[in-house]
Amino acid sequence: MINGEKVLDHPIRWAMVGGGRGSQIGYIHRSAALRDRSFELVAGAFDINPERGKDFGIQLGVAPERCYPDYKTMLMEEAKRSPEDRIEAVTIAVPNGLHYAVCKAVLEAGFHAVCEKPLCFTTEQAEELVHLADSKGLVVGVTYGYSGHQLIEQARQMVLHGDLGEIRLIKMQFPFGAYNTAVEETNAAARWRMDPAKAGPSFVLGDVGTHPLFLAETMVPDFEIESLMCTTKSFIPTRKLEDNAFVIMNLKGGAQATCWASAINCGALHGQKVRIVGSKASVEWYDERPNQLTYEIEGEPVRILERGGAYLYPSARAEDRISGGHTEGLFDAWSNLYRRFAIAMEKANKGEKADFWYPDVHAGAEGVKWVEKCVESAKKGAVWVKY
Ligand code: NAD
Repeated sequence: MINGEKVLDHPIRWAMVGGGRGSQIGYIHRSAALRDRSFELVAGAFDINPERGKDFGIQLGVAPERCYPDYKTMLMEEAKRSPEDRIEAVTIAVPNGLHYAVCKAVLEAGFHAVCEKPLCFTTEQAEELVHLADSKGLVVGVTYGYSGHQLIEQARQMVLHGDLGEIRLIKMQFPFGAYNTAVEETNAAARWRMDPAKAGPSFVLGDVGTHPLFLAETMVPDFEIESLMCTTKSFIPTRKLEDNAFVIMNLKGGAQATCWASAINCGALHGQKVRIVGSKASVEWYDERPNQLTYEIEGEPVRILERGGAYLYPSARAEDRISGGHTEGLFDAWSNLYRRFAIAMEKANKGEKADFWYPDVHAGAEGVKWVEKCVESAKKGAVWVKY
């Protein structure tokens, strides 16, 4: 049970790049990082507009002289401060096209990073970031935020304990409906997502498909893709990137997987689900009902496992913040991840490795590779490509 007691020697001195006023994702980063006193927000380059960013930072309680006009100035000025005072970690919550440059600069400056997905655009860039992080002993957490829900850990333990039998099928989907018309004409946050220069080589595969992909990789620890086939389409003809994609994957060991990523699934909010089908039973998790995990044993009535239940595996209860029956949500899941990032960072500072999983730089790189392979397959006319 998490109850707010400190787990670190000191809260990690933390800065943000992006996540400014009006951004979609900035607040959940701050809420999650600050929740358990894991981090202390001391600096930032919060906005593409420096004045607005400074004003916003001051409103968040950051000292005016540490609200910087851009990330390069921030890294340069922070490096001049004493080691006991300067930032130790930076969250990168800017549009995708900046992730690589900012993450690289943060690591080169010797700071830990928390980076939004996708980590970058190409496997070459991802390999460079992996090498930088590993060689410098720095942590890069990637905010595949849904993975912090505890029933994901329960599914992982069920797979590891053989409760489902041999894993045969994994069905992933994240098909939301909100972009079923050309919303990008009036919505700035939608607009950059359709622009290859800012969003990368894909829209829905990277923006939403990588979420259930990481969930599946977490639930099924030996998830390894051997080959895949992908077809994409833009149903809104003015879009340069796909707004719908279907992927089929052959996994090492014989299992098969599918992923449906979409922005035009009319009527659906998120629709994000991961279903793991084994030879004995299946589990299914749905992000709009994150406190429940469906457990279906062949020939028996469906069971609904509830977060906090005494029957769950202990590691799936370790991050309870309140007893079962009370709903926990995405903010709690993100807090769990940020807490893990913080513990991993403190361990790394002492030259130790984390003995628990979290979405790290390798998970980020895997998402980049998956998008790249899906785009390659789709561009070749939906052919099978080796992974
Ligand atoms: P947004 O457009 O709503 O906000 C982007 C923010 O970044 C704004 O405050 C903007 O001023 C700032 N910014 C842009 N360029 C900057 C620069 N050069 N320096 C400093 N600040 C800059 O975007 P968003 O929806 O919040 O998405 C941001 C990132 O978060 C994207 O990579 C997106 O893929 C990701 N995201 C992740 C999740 C998740 O579940 N993990 C959910 C939504 C978005």
